[in-house]
Amino acid sequence: MLLDPLQARHVLQTALARRFALLAVNADSPAALTDVLEAALRCDAPVIIETSLWQLTGHSFGAGDPALGLARYLVQLALLANSPRYNTIPVLLHTDHIQGPVTLPLLKAALSGLDCGLPTAPGSVRPPTLSPSTISLDSSRLTEAENIATIVGLGQESVRCNRAVTLEMEAGVDDGVTPADVAERLLGGVEEQTPGTVHLWAPGVGTQHGLGSQDAFSSDAVRSHQLLASRLLGRPIGIALHGSSGLPEIRLREAVAAGAVKVNWSSESLLIRSTAARDYYRIHADRLEKAHPQWKVTAMDNGVQTYVSGHYIPRVMELIGILGGCGAASTFRP
Ligand SMILES: [Zn+2]
Repeated sequence: MLLDPLQARHVLQTALARRFALLAVNADSPAALTDVLEAALRCDAPVIIETSLWQLTGHSFGAGDPALGLARYLVQLALLANSPRYNTIPVLLHTDHIQGPVTLPLLKAALSGLDCGLPTAPGSVRPPTLSPSTISLDSSRLTEAENIATIVGLGQESVRCNRAVTLEMEAGVDDGVTPADVAERLLGGVEEQTPGTVHLWAPGVGTQHGLGSQDAFSSDAVRSHQLLASRLLGRPIGIALHGSSGLPEIRLREAVAAGAVKVNWSSESLLIRSTAARDYYRIHADRLEKAHPQWKVTAMDNGVQTYVSGHYIPRVMELIGILGGCGAASTFRP
């Protein structure tokens, strides 16, 4: 089931209390959405799907229009997550690495509800809309003041349109361990103006986006930032870990024990899917000749996607297990 912002907040707080983390997969295509939900179902685990600007503007979703892309992404995920097959699994949609001039207008529109292109039902005043479960933006090119102002702008929009919002705030996730005074200024600056909106904190903890070495990762930094953020905001705040792809299993387990509740996973996901697709086309190159009797079934999208799934789903399940999520979906069923 696709969760709303308040349900998402409850899942994140439960994860922190019980010390497990949700895998947050940066899903690049409709087929990847299906594979992630299938892995979550097999593990009976809550899961986060996240999407970045490059997906929203890409051919699979908005084809240049990020608002259309997010609406299409939400419609596809809502249909899938609320279907009988997957509706027992808590699914969060998170906006990840949104940046540039589109950031505030896109995310304001998202939290107030995106038009899904369906007609207004009799007796309703507006057509059905969908919103992400949780929202973040890429602050890597923002000053501290701009970062605060953008997050506050989202909090104010939430009040204006009377829609709950569950925000992740980040600071220099690729820049080494974030100093405590930076956390105090950023989180304190937001809480003072729009209290109760930030529920995830993504400081730098020594990781880097990409597939490089993660030797600088510090679980102590995760622990100290989890405690600091919770103290500053006066409520339990879990850590969102960016740049998990190169982290070995033991470090992932340490991160969860220290208070990570959301582990972003993108680079390795892309690598597995692209490598499998490359292998599929290489292995079946002869069948893709037009004279081959099986060329059509080999060329169909389902051919390559089924092959990719076979390599991808087991790794997603393995990661969910490492993060302690297996069986956790049952916690949230009535
Ligand atoms: Zn990230």
